[in-house]
Amino acid sequence: PRSAPRPAPATAIPAGGQSGAPPLLQARGLSKAFRVPGGRLQAVDDVSLELHAGQTLGLVGESGSGKSTLARLLLGLATADAGTVTLDGEPWSPLPEKARRGRRHRIGAIYQDSLGSFDPRWSVGRIVQDAIRGPETVTSLLGQVGLAPELAPRNPLTLSGGQRQRVSIARALAAEPELLICDEPVSALDVTVQAQILELLARLQRERGLSMLFISHDLAVIRQLSDRVAVMRGGRILEQGAAESLFTDPQHEYTEQLLADAP
Ligand code: ADP
Ligand code: MG
Repeated sequence: PRSAPRPAPATAIPAGGQSGAPPLLQARGLSKAFRVPGGRLQAVDDVSLELHAGQTLGLVGESGSGKSTLARLLLGLATADAGTVTLDGEPWSPLPEKARRGRRHRIGAIYQDSLGSFDPRWSVGRIVQDAIRGPETVTSLLGQVGLAPELAPRNPLTLSGGQRQRVSIARALAAEPELLICDEPVSALDVTVQAQILELLARLQRERGLSMLFISHDLAVIRQLSDRVAVMRGGRILEQGAAESLFTDPQHEYTEQLLADAP
């Protein structure tokens, strides 16, 4: 078996943002363990990363490597055992929940299965309406994600997986987030629908200048959207860097392996 060298310290490499401006999102030394039968499982282990406004950071790693736990820490949905998160240079986590009140919308989230995050009694229109903060309308938001206004009265249960994911993107946009965390947003979709949703996200990057943390176990998917890429394994960031240099000149044997295994 290939034995990986001991990972270099996961210090954040400057992410090429505007000089002087703090990163939009900065995590320092984040750790989170779970109590499991027989001991503790270190799901996130001393993770530092930064993401500058207008950029997409791809986070790639195998199932169980800690990506979703890290996403929850960054969203402030879980509390880290150690470490801090800042948003635009201001404390974001740890913070008491009420200290984020009125600012929650600044980081939006899209998950693999959006159905679990919808109120089952609500129509598409109500789901989007409820999230609107600015002047945009349900019709315009649905239009931006390629959904016809006729879908507004429908229950998301009656939509296709791809349509549902568009609804969750419309809901996220409605809140006018500065950063969108997409945790495996296309992993439950057919390849053709995956391509359509990725195209939509790429368009939102271009047209709205949306910053994203894009999480996937699939390197081919990460490659399509990311300016920078971080590789996660066993709760740690093994390496991170500009997407093209990471893909053409990986520093870590494990990354080489992931590249070799990618279709
Ligand atoms: P990924 O998203 O990369 O698949 P996760 O963050 O979901 O990884 O999980 C990382 C590790 O933490 C896994 O071993 C998982 O089983 C474990 N884990 C995640 N959530 C919990 C939890 N609530 N309780 C116990 N273990 C958990
Ligand atoms: Mg996950």
